[in-house]
Amino acid sequence: MMSLSINEWQRVNLSRWAARGVEGDALSQALPLKLFSRLLADVPDSSLVAIDAAANVSVRVFLTPPNPGEAKGAVWLALTAHAELPLTCQRCLKPVRVSLDVDQQVRFVETEAQAEAEDEIAKEDVLALTPEFDLLALVEDELILAVPLVALHGECSPEGYDPAVEEPPEKTNPFAVLAALKKTS
Ligand SMILES: [Zn+2]
Repeated sequence: MMSLSINEWQRVNLSRWAARGVEGDALSQALPLKLFSRLLADVPDSSLVAIDAAANVSVRVFLTPPNPGEAKGAVWLALTAHAELPLTCQRCLKPVRVSLDVDQQVRFVETEAQAEAEDEIAKEDVLALTPEFDLLALVEDELILAVPLVALHGECSPEGYDPAVEEPPEKTNPFAVLAALKKTS
């Protein structure tokens, strides 16, 4: 299992990585959330992000066998990532810890135009292969896509709603009061 410096994450030679073609060359690393400023822009209260908060990221890069008539196979990247983000619950307006889970496949093609055309129809993401690929930006893009449109607690009540107020006040049973008096005397 390899790991990279942050600098290396931003300049990955995917072709070379794919050509190694070894399962053992998976990358698995915890990346500090503070690296992801675009993602953190979604957090209403940044003081709720722990200093050591991190995204756990795993990446595998591999070549698929060439199609008939093609010289070489395509470079693929399989990415999984997990992080937690403190957002605001849209029901009670209190902080809620939201899990972000990424499980994405990316196929690389030669040109930007080809990537745009194929990305429309392909199930996987299609991106143009660059000699120095910014893997950190890809991870951040995918984490941002994993942020829910509406963050909610599993169970909570709207702000200002107090279930105790809504229920009719408990009536005191006069006989119960008498019984209680008898017991204490
Ligand atoms: Zn809530």
